[in-house]
Formats: sequence, C-alpha cells, structure tokens
Amino acid sequence: MDFKTTPLSLRPLPFDKTVFPNDPRTSIQIFTNSSRPAKYEAANILGKEYDMEYIQNSDLEGDLTSLVRVYNEWVNSILTSDLEDRYQESISGSSNENNEIKHEETVPPDRLNRLQVRSGSLHPPRNRKEGDLAIKLADFLCEMDSDHRTFNLSGGKQFMEKHHLIPMEQYFNFEKSVDHYLNIYSLCPTCHRKIHYGEKEDRKEMLEILYGMRKTNYQEIYGIQLNDLFRYYNV
Ligand SMILES: [Zn+2]
Ligand SMILES: [Zn+2]
Repeated sequence: MDFKTTPLSLRPLPFDKTVFPNDPRTSIQIFTNSSRPAKYEAANILGKEYDMEYIQNSDLEGDLTSLVRVYNEWVNSILTSDLEDRYQESISGSSNENNEIKHEETVPPDRLNRLQVRSGSLHPPRNRKEGDLAIKLADFLCEMDSDHRTFNLSGGKQFMEKHHLIPMEQYFNFEKSVDHYLNIYSLCPTCHRKIHYGEKEDRKEMLEILYGMRKTNYQEIYGIQLNDLFRYYNV
C-alpha cells in the first residue's frame, strides 16, 4: 500500500469536534519523502498543531488526556466487536473435541471479585468453554425452535451462537458467576439477533420462553424472577 497516496478519509475517524473545538486537525504533514513519516501521516487519528511561540501557555496535559481518552474509546470499540466474533467462534464443531468442563459441575462458581481487563476489554472475560458446553447440551440446536437451521462447522456440527440470558453486564450483581452454561442458551444467529435487537413484544416473549425452560435454576441459583429479566432487557 502506498501510504502517501492513500486518501486519509478512508480511515475510520473517531473524530470528535468537542475535543479540540477551536483547532481540529484531522491530518498531519511531516514534509518528507521517506516511508516511515509517511506512515505516521497516514495513521494519524487526531492531532493538534501548536505554535512554537505559544506552546508554553498551551494546556499540553489537558490535550494529552483528551487524546488518550479518544484513543482508548476507539481501541475499545474495535476490541469489543472483535471479541464477540471470537467468542462466538465455536470449538465444539471439531470431532476430536476435549471439553474440560464436566457435565456434573451443576453449580456455577462464585463470581470474580473485580473486573479483569484483558486486551482492553472492560467486560469480565467470558469463558468460551462454558458457552460451547451449553451448545453441546442443546445438541447444536436452537433452543427457541429446534427446526431452525444454520450451517455445519468443519467438524460436522451445526453452528449456533451463545447467549447469556442474564446479561454479562449484570455480572457483579450476582454472587454466582453468570458466565456458566446454566445461564447460556444455544440460539441460531437470527434468534440471537432478535433477542438483542427485536421488537419489545417479541423480546419479551422470547425471555418468557427461555426463562421458563430453566425457571428452577434461575430462582434457586440466581434468585431472579421473570420481571428482573424484563428489567435487564428494558422490555
Ligand atoms: Zn447475546
Ligand atoms: Zn432460532
């Protein structure tokens, strides 16, 4: 790729006019023909130009804080979407699978005491194996309707997605970990999108069905009623 001729506007710009309202610059110019500075020019996300005469009086510290904030928001928005894809990527499809989580482990472990920040993600880490076990226990079928079809993974098993009925955002409100297969449902991608983005009434109906399937677990292990779920989902 020729960084010198790549249009800067093609980059995803987390450009925020509120950061530097008076002097918003989206591009920098280093005025050289060598390749490394050209890459800096191309990779610049947000910048501010200072006049050498007045740089003493500038709020450098405040500017740097703003830059770091924009950078962190940007990186985090990218990493979160990446992690979702990686999380849904199932390992259960392989034929020589070796699932370490035992079927008898029917009580979720206590939750962690604090947030674990890993690779910039702010959520508690989700254990892919718990989700894979949930899908395996559902026989690689959609728990809303076992007739829903997706496609087969290379290992021959049908692809399904993992959904935490008690959302991970509620992680710290429970004594027991909600990242446990008892709280994870196997859903086809359409049903999964629907429970996240569907119409209020449809989502409500789905919650009722899914909660009903494991009502005893939800009441005894997590101590929640259907109405609590409605609250989490804003329905
Ligand atoms: Zn989900
Ligand atoms: Zn489905």
